[in-house]
Amino acid sequence: MILIDGKKAAAELREELRQEVSELKSKYSKVPGLTVILIGDLAPSQIYVRNKEKSAKEVGLKSEVIKYPDSVQEKTVLEKIQELNGDENVSGILVQLPLPKHIDKQKVIETIDPSKDVDGFHPMNVGNLSSGYESSVPCTPLGCYLLIKKIEPNLNGKKAVVVGRSNLNGKPMTQLLLKENCTVTITHSKTKDLKAECLEADIIVAAVGIPELVRGDWVKKDAIVIDVGINKTDKGLVGDVHFEEVSKNAKALTPVPGGVGPMTIACLLKNTIDCFKRSQI
Ligand code: NAP
Repeated sequence: MILIDGKKAAAELREELRQEVSELKSKYSKVPGLTVILIGDLAPSQIYVRNKEKSAKEVGLKSEVIKYPDSVQEKTVLEKIQELNGDENVSGILVQLPLPKHIDKQKVIETIDPSKDVDGFHPMNVGNLSSGYESSVPCTPLGCYLLIKKIEPNLNGKKAVVVGRSNLNGKPMTQLLLKENCTVTITHSKTKDLKAECLEADIIVAAVGIPELVRGDWVKKDAIVIDVGINKTDKGLVGDVHFEEVSKNAKALTPVPGGVGPMTIACLLKNTIDCFKRSQI
């Protein structure tokens, strides 16, 4: 079985991006800029944002974090986003989720200029992705897609099963696989026989949030299995896939941690650079 090393793949991607940023700097005499807005003091958000900032600097991007207290008014945040939309030194804007209850998440997402929406959550980017046009793609499914393509460059006609239909993961993952000519089944909590669906799959992407849901006898021999799940349990962090059982059947499998996770931030940097490149045309 191939253990898909997300840390290594992310390091390789960051190195490619570092070179690209250096070329862009020579060509345009400026570098892409990523601005992250962080509201409140939730520990996981603080950690994510710190890692994003560190990785952005590592590849040579201009990186800025704007912090607001939990009590910040929605209007203040929306006005800041509008200001950033008009700032030509800002290529990408990310508002770290979750937001405090009094701030309307959808309003925030829709205020970000779609051409600077590095999370790919703006309805314009969601629509472009589902129409097969160029767009920013949410970072986690983009990372999964790049890992799958490393194992299997030609996905034509492959049967893929995506477990979970969130806007963050399942739905954009489905669109990416469809674009690659996979025959895709998207499953969710009301799916009648999830095991039977998974047993059909050449590729399984699990993005559910239930520890070790996908078992060894759900997986066809030689399937590629991508585990998006991050679940805290008594035995530590586990994914949505039963690693030990599935590793006996699968052709390739991502571990948790060290699989999809590291690719997510690398893809955020990629999205920022892609937004910059599109803005220079
Ligand atoms: P989410 O928004 O909670 O969506 C979960 C999806 O799973 C829903 O579509 C739900 O179906 C479906 N589901 C729930 N129970 C199911 C079952 N028994 N059988 C089949 N489908 C079922 O979750 P998410 O934001 O996509 O996150 C999923 C997991 O990925 C979480 O563990 C999260 O921590 C992790 N994650 C990892 C990364 C990373 O960088 N690696 C990034 C983001 C998230 P319904 O639609 O019917 O409710």
